[in-house]
Amino acid sequence: MRARMSAETLTSELTRRIEEISGENLLKCYQCGMCAAGCPAAFAMDMLPSQAIRFLQLGLVEEVLNSDTPWLCAACQTCYARCPKGLDLSRIMEAIREIVLQERGDYIDLGDLSPRDLAEIPQQAFIACFRKYTA
Ligand code: SF4
Ligand code: SF4
Repeated sequence: MRARMSAETLTSELTRRIEEISGENLLKCYQCGMCAAGCPAAFAMDMLPSQAIRFLQLGLVEEVLNSDTPWLCAACQTCYARCPKGLDLSRIMEAIREIVLQERGDYIDLGDLSPRDLAEIPQQAFIACFRKYTA
């Protein structure tokens, strides 16, 4: 896939919304990879945190909206602590989740849980789940 960074891609409506919600400037990222190298959830992600930022810089927003990465981000802020440019990726991941929830509805259907899950999953996990995966 070929993609070209331009003023148009960098100011697409969705990238603007992500920057507005997160309060972060996507252009600050210069792809050093320090965030991805320290991310404790990177092993499970289909797109590294630094890759997600690059896709957004290139205007390839749909790829990021369709990725598992924002949902696996644990908001631990390790990336923020390691980023030489001071980017807080947890805020960007939160903004992406918010846009997906607004546009597509809940990410998970709690009605799909089995009676056994309902009996065994701690209430705190349910609350965390509601906050993160439902609108
Ligand atoms: S905040 Fe998210 S992206 Fe950043 S290191 Fe933690 S899990 Fe990874
Ligand atoms: S650590 Fe910061 S500058 Fe480096 S790739 Fe990650 S977001 Fe970009």
